[in-house]
Parts: sequence; structure tokens; C-alpha cells
Amino acid sequence: MANLHFKSTRSDSEHLTFAQAVVKGIASDGGLFVPEAMPEINLLDESLMTLSYQELAMRILELFATDFSEAELRHCVTLAYDEKFRNVAIAPIHTCGKASFIELYHGKTLAFKDMALSILPHFMTTSAKKLGTKEKIVILAATSGDTGKAALEGFSDVDGVEIIVFYPTDGVSDVQKRQMITQEGENTHVFGINGNFDDAQNGVKRIFTDENYKAALKEKGYILSSANSINIGRLVPQIVYYISSYYQLAKAQSITLGESINVVVPTGNFGNILAAYYAKQLGLPIKKFICASNHNNVLTDFFNTGVYDLKRDFIPSISPSMDILISSNLERFLYAISDDDSHTIATLMSDLKSKGSYEITNAMKLNMADFYGGFADDKATVDAISSLSSDYGYTIDTHTAVAYQVYRDYVKKTKDETPTLIASTASPFKFPRSVLEGLGESVSAFDDFELVEKLAQVAHIEVPGPIKAIETRPILHKDICDKNDLNQVILKVLG
Ligand SMILES: *Cc1c(COP(=O)(O)O)cnc(C)c1O
Repeated sequence: MANLHFKSTRSDSEHLTFAQAVVKGIASDGGLFVPEAMPEINLLDESLMTLSYQELAMRILELFATDFSEAELRHCVTLAYDEKFRNVAIAPIHTCGKASFIELYHGKTLAFKDMALSILPHFMTTSAKKLGTKEKIVILAATSGDTGKAALEGFSDVDGVEIIVFYPTDGVSDVQKRQMITQEGENTHVFGINGNFDDAQNGVKRIFTDENYKAALKEKGYILSSANSINIGRLVPQIVYYISSYYQLAKAQSITLGESINVVVPTGNFGNILAAYYAKQLGLPIKKFICASNHNNVLTDFFNTGVYDLKRDFIPSISPSMDILISSNLERFLYAISDDDSHTIATLMSDLKSKGSYEITNAMKLNMADFYGGFADDKATVDAISSLSSDYGYTIDTHTAVAYQVYRDYVKKTKDETPTLIASTASPFKFPRSVLEGLGESVSAFDDFELVEKLAQVAHIEVPGPIKAIETRPILHKDICDKNDLNQVILKVLG
């Protein structure tokens, strides 16, 4: 297989192997790593349809990690997709009429972040070994709730790694917070920060491009890497489940092999939907990408106008993992629709920084005709939970409900009845309060942990193992820090 390399979205200077890009996390110019070309595979080859999730993952990942030996890749895949997942299909589908939900939440932390963060630590340690890296790797992660826990689980007690997670103190659900602050593992460090997700993400990104700071850490024997979806090692594994779910639909005869589908993704940092877009570039027949936002709808406006404008209020919602104004992975999409023009991307990103907005070129607008943007506010989100439950007896979380609502709006508006995959990104048990409201239950007298039990009774689903009795686990991480103090906090953690 030809060797694939990775370059920055913002310049043409770096030229890295997969291992190098995974360890480095983000390019020196602040850009994100992208494949220099899309690899080739015939996804309509019937023999792929019958592979297990793990074997399919091998076939897709080897296209990108061309510097990994088969044994190295198998080691990563085997350790990642094992019985940690509570369903043998890893990401099973559940069909309701013309829409099928890909349940991406059967991993340890009950959110789709597990799909990639179960394998990223193995990519990271394998890469470091291959590259002969002597320093200890320090993983920094900013989280809107789900990445933090999934990264902590993935990296907990992994040799040669320290992991530091920053979450916005008021921006995550009680269950999400409790999952993080009860995290075990000698090498795990968790901090609440006074600020929102964008503050946390900006703080972390700033550190990655602070060459003096990184040099000082290196002197102490540490190098930084990222567990956020800016890391290419997180994005690539997400391509696999779109292909897997397409085959599941074909096997269930909901579609024929080769037939086009639409994909709806509840979007925040644009990583998940970008993976679907990469799947299409590999040859998966996807007609429309429906990008669903909550009332922080900067992306809806972007797809409608070609203008990305940050100058708006940040409004916390009941789908907190999508409360984001700066959608990092959009940069990789912009790169693709600019026909790989890193000069243009550098200009747009510098406009975003200096003016708080940018407008893409007309040629780029034409290249995103297969995207549709829509949003649902909190009320519409709760309504969507309610109607899916009464129409099909199926319970979804708030993020998935945003997607379902935007899907219904889209079908109403366009009459497009194409079979559709909806990414179901979290277990309803992570957001019991809003989900129960959608199911018509009164919730005000209970705390979130009582509501977990109540949800199990009302929806007739068992409480998933990983959050059983979570409220009684010891709290191990109590620190709060200021959004401007991340540098000092990290130094203190590392001693
Ligand atoms: C992270 C997350 C999202 C947003 O995904 P992106 O890849 O950041 O667009 C949506 N739903 C849930 C539950 C999440 O945890």
C-alpha cells in the first residue's frame, strides 16, 4: 500500500506519517493535520459487508495508518473494540420508519467519544514507541462533557502518559461531571475551569502553539499531545462506524448495496460529521449531510450563508456537548471544499481570529451543496424525544433528539424520503432530566442520580453498568482553576 502522509490545513511545510501526526496532535502553524490524498478502497465490495466491526476497522484504518505494521494495528484494534462495548456489533442500528439510529454509546462512558478514544491511547503509545520518543506524553483535553470522561477512561494508567482534562464548571450535566471527578488512575488529572467550552478549548489550543512553553516542558521530559478531535487519530476511527452501519442497513435489506443514504449528525466540534464526509470521499454512497445544531447555531447560519460569524452570545442548552461556537474540525472541511488550498484556509482562520468572522469563496460554497444545516432549540428537542417515544417506543438522549428534530424539519421542507442514518451520540442516561421531561415525567423534586433510576423504570431499559451507583463513588478530583491559568496548572501537575 502506498505511504500516506499528513499535512497542515494552513501550510504545505509539514509532511508527517500517521504516527508523527498522532503524537504531535496539532500542526506547528496552528492548523490541523489532514491526509495528503484520500486513500482508495472499493466499499461496494460485498465481501466487506460480512466482516466483524474489528475486521472492518482493520481494513479502513490500514488505509490511513500506512506506517503501522499489520501486527501493530491489530494490537490497537483488539484492545480498543473488546468487551468494554456492551453490544457485539459495537455500534448497532435501531430503525424507526425511514430513519435508523446508529447507537454510538455502548462504550464505557456512554457517549460516542468512546468509539475513537478507546483506540487513540493505543495509537499514541504505539506511535511513540515507533518514533523512539523518550519523553513522557502529556495529553491535554478540553471537554464539553463527553470527551473528558472518554479520554480519562482511555488513558487511565496507560504507561508513559499523563492526562489532564479541563471542563467548564457550569457547562456539563451532573452525570457527566460525576463521571469525570470520580475517575480513577494514577495518571489522571481533572480541573473545572471558570468559563465555557470555547474558553477551555482555546486555552488548550494556545498551549499547543506556545513554542516557549513546549520547549520548557520538553526540558523537563514531557511532550504534549491532544485527545480532542483536532487529533487525526481520533477522526479516522470514526469513519469506520458509518461504513459499518451502512452495511448493517444493507444486511437488514433497508437499502440495497450501492443505494444512497442521508446522514444526520448532532454537531458541535464537527468531528463526527466530518468522519461521515471522509467516508463519502472513500466511496460510501451518501447523498446529503444534515448538520444539526442546538440554539448555538453558528453552523446552521454558515451552511445557509457561507459566513461563519462568532459574534453572538453563547447560550447553554440541554445538549451541552454541542454548546460550541468555534467548531474546530470545520477547518478540515474548509480545506477539502477549497480543493486543498492551505493559503485560503490560513487567511480564513486569521480573519476568524482578528474579526470574529469569515466568508468562504463562491467556489467553496458550490462545493458544499451536499450539506444542509438546521437547528432545534430546547423546546423542540424535548418535543422530539416525546414524539419518538410515543411513535416508536424508542428513547433517545437530548443530542440525538436535536438531530431527530432537524431531520423531521428537513423531510418536511424538502420531501426527501431517502433512507437516513441518524448518529445517536449519547445514552439517554447521561441526560436523564431532559429525557424524562420529554417522556412527560415530573422531575423537579429529584436529583440527576435519582432520575437515572427513574428513567430505567419509565423507559424499561436497564441502567448501564458504568453509571450504576455513580453517586456513591469517592470524588477524587476537586480542583477548579481560572481559564487564564492553564499553563501554571499543567506545570504544577507535572511537578
Ligand atoms: C461531542 C458530542 C457531540 C458533538 O460531536 P462533534 O464531533 O464535536 O461534532 C454530539 N453529541 C454528543 C453526545 C457528544 O458527546
